[in-house]
Formats: sequence, structure tokens, C-alpha cells
Amino acid sequence: MSILITGGAGYIGSHTCVTLIEAGYEVIIYDNLSNASHESIKRIEMITEQDITLIEADIQDKQALHKVFETYTIDAVIHFAGLKAVGESVQKPLTYYQNNIAGTLTLLEVMQAHHCKQIVFSSSATVYGDPASCPITEDFPLSATNPYGRSKLFIEEILRDMYRSDTEWKIVLLRYFNPIGAHPSGTIGEDPNGIPNNLVPFIAQTAIGKRDSLAIFGDDYDTHDGTGVRDYIHVMDLAQGHLDALDRISTFSEVMTINLGTGKGYSVLDVLKAFEKSVGKTIPYHIAPRRPGDIASCYADPSYAKKILGWQATRDINQMCQDSWRWQSNNPNGYNKEAQ
Ligand code: NAD
Ligand code: UDP
Repeated sequence: MSILITGGAGYIGSHTCVTLIEAGYEVIIYDNLSNASHESIKRIEMITEQDITLIEADIQDKQALHKVFETYTIDAVIHFAGLKAVGESVQKPLTYYQNNIAGTLTLLEVMQAHHCKQIVFSSSATVYGDPASCPITEDFPLSATNPYGRSKLFIEEILRDMYRSDTEWKIVLLRYFNPIGAHPSGTIGEDPNGIPNNLVPFIAQTAIGKRDSLAIFGDDYDTHDGTGVRDYIHVMDLAQGHLDALDRISTFSEVMTINLGTGKGYSVLDVLKAFEKSVGKTIPYHIAPRRPGDIASCYADPSYAKKILGWQATRDINQMCQDSWRWQSNNPNGYNKEAQ
């Protein structure tokens, strides 16, 4: 089976490529490298010992997409490509809607033209907005507080409409909680541009000395220690979830909406402690004001994923931190080898 992986050079996409290749799938990566590099493709090749086909193009480029479907027989698409920075989406809503929503429309149009009707889409726990309680099941009310989240909500609705118009579509919406960690080899991992927005990349860069101190955004939330609680999930477990979804996609007779999380909530201080254990030293931090838009707690009820996909997360917070640290310490400047 040949799988087109949009955004396959990025963080979650690169790990999923490795998992799919090791399971015997052929992958074709389609990525404009707006947030990734050729180096990540080389690293996937190193791990899998296979040559990777990279189509360096934009999902908004209809002709380039048509060419891919004319050249290869694509059985299914995993659609990771998208912009993902919440703050930037508030500043540049049109860029986010154009890239994420218009790009998805173009992709779907081309898939339809080539009778490729199987797609796994990267959605997010952000579609639950500020949940009334935790753990969160898939039937919780949906809302969004920023253009990034709204782009995910709209795309979910567009995909449901595709299915309503033609029930031959096989669609899986995977709602990720907080992906962290890296491939255990330390060869591929998350490589944020500039100052990281997310917790674990910031902790990792502080641990390696690139940042002075972690700002903990608020210690007065209604949580066990006052800091924000999230459901951190190892990126390799996430990759396995995509494999399990692909393995079953042809059997689904409705749009499947599935949480991918561990079901466990860890606070910022819990994560910091686990990371310190991996590094073997303390990491400087200070308490800062709450970050606007942040919520107190967010963690999944992952039981539906177990029921439908036979999937559950297997790696704990210590392994997540150890693997993030191995990636960070092996690659202090990410994929930018020249700067190392
Ligand atoms: P990433 O930025 O590392 O990967 C996205 C990839 O898509 C990048 O390689 C980028 O170059 C590519 N891309 C972006 N726009 C494109 C376009 N128009 N055409 C072609 N390629 C394009 O991000 P990630 O963390 O791997 O996230 C993958 C997907 O998962 C995204 O859709 C993201 O919204 C979603 N998601 C991520 C998280 C997270 O915390 N990382 C959580 C929930 C959902
Ligand atoms: N966080 C923090 N300092 C940082 C980055 C994040 O205290 O530099 C906190 C944030 O307030 C939240 C948690 O860490 O409680 C996870 O934040 P992240 O941005 O990684 O994910 P998201 O907010 O999307 O769940």
C-alpha cells in the first residue's frame, strides 16, 4: 500500500513515516518544507535504511498534487500539513485559513478526482476549547478560541460533509493531545523555529543552556500544584495510532473521530521534574503570569481508541522526557547541522 503523507517531513509526520515504513507501507512525503528541512528526510532514510520519495510542493498547488496522483497509485493520505502556532494564527488568521483550510480543500478535490477516498486527518484536543471536565471523551462539546483551532474545527466539518456527500469516503479524525518525545535513536525529533512556544522544547533548550530559565505560565490554576495540567503523549505512540488507523481504515463505515492521549494528566512542575531526572540536574524556572487563552486542565479519555483501533499509549512520562532529551542533546541546534 502506498500512502501519501502531507507534512511528512515535520515532527509528527517524520516519526509516523518511520513507523509506517517499518510496518511495510510505501510512503511518499509531500511537504513544502515551510517548517521542516531536507535533513529530516535524510534522517528518516538513515533510520529506515530506505530511500524516501519527497515531493517538495505546497498542498495549495493543485497541479503538483494532480501530478503526484498521476505518477503514483496512492491508496490513502495522512494529512499532517498545516501551520500550527496558536499565537501566530491570531496575528495572521488569513494565512492560517488559506494554508490549512484552502490547502485541505485543494487536497480533497484532487483526491476525489483520482478516486482516492481514504484520509487520516491530524486534528487536535484544541477543538474541545475549555472543557467543562476531564477526562475528555469524543462527544464533548466543540469550540475554538483562535484561528488555528477554528481551522481544525472547520476541516473536521468539511470532512464530515465529504462523507455525507459520498459514503465511499473513509475518514479518520485523530485528535492529538500533547505530543512530546522523539524517536529512541535521538536521530529525529521536534525542531521548533526560534523561541519554542511549547513546554517540552522550551525545557529541553533551557536544560542545554540555550535559554536561561523556564517561565511557568501561572501557578494558581485549580490543579494539584497550581500549574497547568496536560495529557503528554509520546510521538512514537502517536505514530503507532496512525498505523493502527490505516490498518483498519477500509473497514470503517462512518467518519471515525478518535482521541489519541494517554488518559493521564501531568502538571508543568511534574514534567519539569521528570525532565530533570532525565538530564540529571536541576533546570532553572520562575513563575510568570498565566498565558492568555490557556486552560487549567486537559486530558483524554482514550478508551474509544482502544476499542476501535486496539491502540493505547505504552510509553510513560519518564520515557518521553528521556527521548526528548536524547534528541536535544544529540542535536543542540536541531536539524541545522551548520550551526552545531
Ligand atoms: P510540523 O510543523 O512539524 O509539521 C507540519 C509539516 O507540514 C511541516 O513539515 C511543514 O513544512 C508542512 N506544511 C505546512 N504547510 C504546508 C503546505 N501548505 N504544503 C505542504 N506542506 C506544508 O507540525 P507537527 O507538530 O508535526 O504537526 C503535524 C500536524 O498535527 C499539524 O496539522 C498540526 O496542526 C497537528 N497537531 C499538532 C500538535 C502538536 O502539538 N505538535 C497537536 C495537535 C495537532
Ligand atoms: N507552559 C509553560 N511555559 C512555557 C510553555 C508552556 O508554563 O514556556 C505551560 C502552558 O501554560 C500549559 C503547558 O505548559 O499549561 C503546555 O503548554 P504547551 O504550549 O506545550 O501546550 P498547549 O498549551 O497547547 O496544551
